[in-house]
Amino acid sequence: MDTLSPSGRSERMARVRNRDSKPEMLVRRIVHAMGFRYRLYDRRRPGTPDLAFSARRKAIFVHGCFWHRHPDPNCRLARMPKS
Ligand SMILES: [Zn+2]
Repeated sequence: MDTLSPSGRSERMARVRNRDSKPEMLVRRIVHAMGFRYRLYDRRRPGTPDLAFSARRKAIFVHGCFWHRHPDPNCRLARMPKS
């Protein structure tokens, strides 16, 4: 059972940032330093990749702990919410 009303939940979840996250900025900084040019959140590409390299037909998706999960049992962020 959710502790919030559906509209309250919707408002709360909408505040969870999914752009310009810390890991994403780290990847962007490294890739940029390597001299690659890319487009951010290109909606013309399937899945709206975080980084899109159009000419090379390549894309990078930076998957965060919470939304995509990962197997590290010690990560506090990759967890199922209690409600
Ligand atoms: Zn994690």
